[in-house]
Amino acid sequence: MDAVAINIDGQDHEVEEGQRLLLVLQQKGIKVPSLCFHRALVPAAACKLCVVEVTEGGKPPRARLSCAVKCREGMQVTTESAMIHQLRNKAIGDLLKLAPFSDAIHKIGSEFGLTTGLKPDGCIRCRLCIRVCADIIGARALKMIRREGLQYVVPSEDGTCIGCGTCTNICPTGAIRAEDDENVRTIRIRDEVVGRHPLERCDICGRYYATTRFIEHVKAAEASHPDEKEEHHHCPMCAKLYSKRKLGITAPHLAKTYGGKPVD
Ligand code: SF4
Repeated sequence: MDAVAINIDGQDHEVEEGQRLLLVLQQKGIKVPSLCFHRALVPAAACKLCVVEVTEGGKPPRARLSCAVKCREGMQVTTESAMIHQLRNKAIGDLLKLAPFSDAIHKIGSEFGLTTGLKPDGCIRCRLCIRVCADIIGARALKMIRREGLQYVVPSEDGTCIGCGTCTNICPTGAIRAEDDENVRTIRIRDEVVGRHPLERCDICGRYYATTRFIEHVKAAEASHPDEKEEHHHCPMCAKLYSKRKLGITAPHLAKTYGGKPVD
């Protein structure tokens, strides 16, 4: 192919005639955002992020998608201007309508100073998690703060989470989660960790069922209660069976209650 002279951002370059402009820009290390371009495929011009201004044949500059433009003699290219920024902002806004949770879109937006807004986090700001943690559990492990004009639920600084999981059960949208991985429970909102806790096994069935801190919390809360339990290392199901045994309810009773299978 013949070489042609083009000008990019005031600098003259010699490039292959007919080469895709975006490819030329990438090869020369000139940064232009793009998500949908692949050099092995014919451009789809779908993401519209790679827009630049191109001046040709004495005509006024035009906004063109650089992935779709083929280099020609005398072409003048501008890769940054107020109009380009505006068009890229529109393009990124359109992409975010389709994929609001996409890390790639948010990342490229922040890299090029485009307006992406904050990434949706699935939280409807009902504050149920904050209230249940403070008012019922007494842990005060969550709080609300303002970031870039919006309220966000975040972990409180002093790490008071006990890993009970009550917040995750009450959350109406699943924005706050408890993830049990073998013997560790992580309470998480977005990618922020509220607490990470070791889990204890049930003495009877051996399943991991509650965090050490939650068990200690329950023990402390029950210490002066007249009906204080003797044993705190039973999962809820085994605890039920255990208390029934203590009351003299035997295998046949339990079998009747739990589906006809006798329990020793
Ligand atoms: S898991 Fe942690 S943040 Fe959630 S209610 Fe329990 S103590 Fe509070």
